[in-house]
This record gives sequence, C-alpha cells and structure tokens, in this order.
Amino acid sequence: MTGLTKRSRVVSNKKMSFWEKIYLPAILKGMWITLGHLFTKKTTVRYPEVKREFSEIYRGRHVLKRDDEGRERCTACGLCAVACPAEAITMVAAERKPGEENLYREEKYASTYEINMLRCIFCGLCEEACPKEAIFLTKTIVKAGYDRDKFIYGKDLLVEPVDPSKRIDVSKRQTTEVLEFKKDKNQRHNVH
Ligand code: SF4
Ligand code: SF4
Repeated sequence: MTGLTKRSRVVSNKKMSFWEKIYLPAILKGMWITLGHLFTKKTTVRYPEVKREFSEIYRGRHVLKRDDEGRERCTACGLCAVACPAEAITMVAAERKPGEENLYREEKYASTYEINMLRCIFCGLCEEACPKEAIFLTKTIVKAGYDRDKFIYGKDLLVEPVDPSKRIDVSKRQTTEVLEFKKDKNQRHNVH
C-alpha cells in the first residue's frame, strides 16, 4: 500500500550502541546547538524598551484628515461605514451653518464620528472607499487598555490637529494608482 504522504518513515529497530544508550553525546549536541543560538542575531526585541520600526504602509489606527486650510475633509457620506466589513464605524451627519465654512469643507459634515477599535480588523477598506481623502490608516498602533469604552475612538482622537506642523503625513499611502482609482467615475463609490 502506498503512503498518503511522502513523509512516512520506516522505523528502525537497530540496536543502540553504548554511546547512544548513555545519551550523553546527544545531550551535549543539544546543548551545543542551544549555546550557538546565544551568539546568533535575535529575532525578538525587548519591547517596550526597544520598538520595531513599522512599515510606512502599516495599517494602524485611523486619522481623519483636514484640508490645507484646516477644514475637516469628511462629508459624512457614510461610504466608509458601508465598506466596513466589521461594522466598526458609526457617524451622525450635520449641516454646516453659515460662518462654519472655515471648519468644514463641505456643506455636510460628521458631527459625530466613531470607530470601535475592538471591532476594527484594520483592513483599510474605509480608506479605499473614501472619495474625499478624509480617512487614512496610520502606522500608530491602538493602545492596549482594560476598559472597553476606551476603544471607541471619537472625533477628539481621530481628527488630526489644526496646527500644520502636527498634521499626520499620509503621503506614503496616497500612491498614484490609488489617486487615479478614486478619480474614476465609473467606480460606483466615486460618484456621490
Ligand atoms: S480598517 Fe476595515 S474594519 Fe477597520 S474601520 Fe476601516 S473598514 Fe472597518
Ligand atoms: S467615506 Fe470619507 S467622507 Fe465619507 S463618511 Fe467616511 S470618512 Fe467621511
């Protein structure tokens, strides 16, 4: 009968030699291998003292972007929430009032915008769906915590600061291909 895999091995019934019976050479060999690992490059780091550099396109916690004039880009269209497979995004839309043109770029904005970071799987689909370049994932990780309520990130945590020197750089995520894709009006979610 042929084996199901090629990994089957014939068991050897050969008698053990004296050195095999006392196991000492095998133990020394094992210790030698262990000792060798002490002098090889480590694959682990002493976190949190040592931090690993994340890739520029690592998908961590989100940022809601402002435009060059400091106005919130999000227009509360809801496309990110529709695209989210984890149903992690909720928002409440509001109408911009006269005099608020310097706060919100469009006539409609999100008065409430929340992401449940416990639900989020950091897939990046919200970023892809957004026609306003308003939401991006960043390479910052979501902090651990003991309180579930603390994982509901609202606008206070998501919207980037107005100060241009404190803005979040997302240029590495805005590739030419992505920008071209978002201009394509044949893509249903680009038309709104
Ligand atoms: S990254 Fe994915 S799971 Fe997280 S909020 Fe965006 S679409 Fe939802
Ligand atoms: S898709 Fe963009 S503009 Fe629309 S609600 Fe989401 S973040 Fe705001």
